[in-house]
Amino acid sequence: MTCKEFEKLIPMYVAKKLDYLTLKEFYAHMQSCEDCKEELTINFLVTDGLQKLENGDAFDLHKEWGSKVEETRRRIGRNENMIKLGFWIEIVAVGVIAGIAWWLLLP
Ligand SMILES: [Zn+2]
Repeated sequence: MTCKEFEKLIPMYVAKKLDYLTLKEFYAHMQSCEDCKEELTINFLVTDGLQKLENGDAFDLHKEWGSKVEETRRRIGRNENMIKLGFWIEIVAVGVIAGIAWWLLLP
């Protein structure tokens, strides 16, 4: 993912509208690119922070940002587990089908 692509996705990220694959790339870029991370933090502060201020809620950027990143990390991890689980289910399904076929073909 390029910095330009990253920038374009920032509003989507803040609004939690990124799909899993995009989110994964987005997160990877954020981890490797300090400029974009800063850009994203500022964006997050402006959108989320202003909203909180409007509601009269206390806003602790450091804490909020930390939990946002944590949430992203968890979302990616959860999806990764689902993919792994899907893989194993497939293996088991193939095994069961092979077992039935073998059983049917027995003389
Ligand atoms: Zn970048």
